[in-house]
Amino acid sequence: MTTRITHWTDGSATPGDSGRSGPVFNPATGEQTGEVDLAGRDELDRAVRSATEAAAFWRSTSLARRTGVLFRFRELLAASIDDLAAIITSEHGKVLSDAKGEIQRGLENVEYACGVAEHMKGGYSEQAGTGVDVYSIRQPLGVVAGITPFNFPVMVPLWMCANAIATGNAFILKPSEKDPSASLFLADLWKKAGLPDGVFSVVQGDKEAVDAILEHPDIAAVSFVGSTPIARYIYETGTRNGKRVQALGGAKNHMLVLPDADVDMAADAAVSAAYGAAGERCMAISVAVAVGDVADPLVDAIAARMPKLRIGDGTDPDSEMGPLITREHRDKVADYIRQGVEAGATAVVDGREADVPSDGFFLGTTLLDRVSPEMTVYTDEIFGPVLCVVRQDSYDEAIALINSNPFANGTAIFTRDGGAARQFQFDVEVGMVGVNVPIPVPVSYYSFGGWKASLFGDAHMYGPEGIAFYTRGKVVTSRWPDPATSTIDLGFPTHR
Ligand code: NAD
Repeated sequence: MTTRITHWTDGSATPGDSGRSGPVFNPATGEQTGEVDLAGRDELDRAVRSATEAAAFWRSTSLARRTGVLFRFRELLAASIDDLAAIITSEHGKVLSDAKGEIQRGLENVEYACGVAEHMKGGYSEQAGTGVDVYSIRQPLGVVAGITPFNFPVMVPLWMCANAIATGNAFILKPSEKDPSASLFLADLWKKAGLPDGVFSVVQGDKEAVDAILEHPDIAAVSFVGSTPIARYIYETGTRNGKRVQALGGAKNHMLVLPDADVDMAADAAVSAAYGAAGERCMAISVAVAVGDVADPLVDAIAARMPKLRIGDGTDPDSEMGPLITREHRDKVADYIRQGVEAGATAVVDGREADVPSDGFFLGTTLLDRVSPEMTVYTDEIFGPVLCVVRQDSYDEAIALINSNPFANGTAIFTRDGGAARQFQFDVEVGMVGVNVPIPVPVSYYSFGGWKASLFGDAHMYGPEGIAFYTRGKVVTSRWPDPATSTIDLGFPTHR
């Protein structure tokens, strides 16, 4: 039996009427478990109309009341971690501990948004001219939309909607059609938290719904997270239609290991950052750049750890890595491994040969050594459990390699030398940098974003830049008549 997965408009689950729908699978079993409605323009338009009305009311709701809703949402979300994690695992496949981790990181964004009163404070300059005061305020944009990827079906929507709603906008979420159910769980929590109907909506769909969002005149801004070709398309189309757009794209994250690094520490980090969530993380490490004679011990240490990683159904507490999202994606990743080996890379561990469950979309972990920059395993974002090792002779060569890569989401250096780490932080042309930290996802009071082909637009996501993205500034210059000139005697002296 498959479950029908609907939209959420005007505060309740709303079945679609476009006549289009798509299958949703449990990647651990390969079975279809759901059928998601795919919206057309009419369904999107209905959601926008409801959101437009709600936005007008919501922006005039006091900060105190808005914050109250956010605090209640935070409590409800924290109390629902187990239930929500089970939904994530059933459609995404990641292990439950990972799913819970994703919710925790999302919760941070809700906590940050609970401080919206502080974040939205303006400035005030008294007596900028004689009798003239100047002050700034930030106001919401109206209706804003978020288009999200499959790999974080809870965290990425929370990156967006917590700040968008806190700042007084109505938010429409278009989740990935591959794991759409978590969005409805979030919608229900918002309702239980007391959020007025229409302030948070879900429009399920694929390209058709996305295009309707990009062209809708009453949507003021679009936040996107996904692959680079789609991010570019979203940015170009959305801005052409007059919208404010932030579009985060794909990644190829390099981990630079210097000869003085703690090899055990670097190998532990490489294994968890390359293979966690089956490599389907935008901040996953997919290239280890080994400088000088650290290469052999590093490759050995990583290879020694790989057989210990337990691969299985994400609901099994013993599993450390689950399946990939779809059969097609699993086969595509396997084909990249074939291409890498054919191009001359050494498969130290070949995931295609691993003993993994035959049901579902599983693939073992792969370690490719002696990868060179022209190979497709290096140039393309594989988005699977494949770690490439590129050997370089010097720091300078390594930094040149990283900086010439078109992706620039995250990177990390492993070294014991503080000066080298500081130089790396200065030199590297990447948006998020770790020092002996493989996945440097910023905490919620900083902002998240890569450079180059990993981000289109100039606003990073969440944190202070998220608040700025979802609001626009207004500066008021005011002069009041001198009270001494009032027709009513207010008792003011006239000498001022
Ligand atoms: P994707 O680009 O295929 O899909 C993302 C969203 O775009 C989905 O909602 C999808 O329905 C929609 N979409 C897909 N094809 C479209 C098209 N032709 N026209 C319009 N809309 C379309 O990405 P994905 O496979 O869901 O997610 C994985 C990708 O996301 C990876 O590239 C990963 O690096 C990236 N990602 C990046 C970050 C980041 O912060 N930079 C975070 C998470 C994921």
